[in-house]
Amino acid sequence: MATTSYTFPSTLDMNELPIVRFKLNTPPLRCIIEAILPELLNNFENASVEVVQCPDLTQPPFNLTSEGLCGDENVFDIGDVTNLIPSFKRDKLYNVKDLKRITGSDPLFIIGACAGPYPFFGADSECVENVKITGDRVENGTHVHMTKSDDVPECFHKSLPDDEMRFSMMANFFTSNGFKGEVLKIVCEVRKGPLSYSTCIKEALVKHFGNEIIALGGVILIENGKVKVHVIKPSLAKIPIKSDKELGNLLHFIELSPPSVGVGCIVSHDPGLNLRLQHFHLYTDRNQGGHYYNDTEPETIKYTGYFGVSKQFTKID
Ligand SMILES: [Zn+2]
Repeated sequence: MATTSYTFPSTLDMNELPIVRFKLNTPPLRCIIEAILPELLNNFENASVEVVQCPDLTQPPFNLTSEGLCGDENVFDIGDVTNLIPSFKRDKLYNVKDLKRITGSDPLFIIGACAGPYPFFGADSECVENVKITGDRVENGTHVHMTKSDDVPECFHKSLPDDEMRFSMMANFFTSNGFKGEVLKIVCEVRKGPLSYSTCIKEALVKHFGNEIIALGGVILIENGKVKVHVIKPSLAKIPIKSDKELGNLLHFIELSPPSVGVGCIVSHDPGLNLRLQHFHLYTDRNQGGHYYNDTEPETIKYTGYFGVSKQFTKID
């Protein structure tokens, strides 16, 4: 693991950073079904969308810290790519516990994709955020994925102690009370078009809702078919990074075998805030995971997603 003498910055307080909050018009779930199904069927051989009771997400294969996705739903976009390009901003260190005060939710269930707590490991990593905060009690089931060296694209897994709730540079989180309730179930099988599962859902929402922001967050189960992910290399990224291509040189690309599970968010429209409109991080019970791109076995791929529809959208920093 990379070690160097480095003065680690203190954690930023998200309550003191610039915050933009939107109350969102949440269309009835059946309107979203009618809106997206035709577009899903343009990209996948088989697709279905329905309203169901959320399965118990504390159970396998999800093993999350809360049962459901309902109650006080929020989608957050924190930081952005300017924290990585032209150089990694090590002072962009945040703590999810700040979301307790920002949302006022109790219990607060936080899932999504972010960069790991750099100072904790002394290396960069991918994080599957999975935290439940009830009063002052924290249950931290976050998964961290890292690679062993810059040369070998081999992934390994780390857990975090309950009190290590920091993350770095950028995040896309869905928060809720984690209560049981109705969610959208979106199943897509056999990909015939170019779009990934999450991009296809986003594009379908854009086509129907235009500039109206629809924000979804939740879980994806990939039962069949391999998918392509990236996991950042462990070396300290101190060199200037001039482009997305150069950023790509800092990443290992890995194929994940099924089954895998993902958490993250989809936002249909960016009103000029430099948002990341879809972002999912995957995990498995085999120490593998990473940032989701698309499947590499379109003829056998099967995605099953469960999503809450957010009543608010919040951009921080
Ligand atoms: Zn990512």
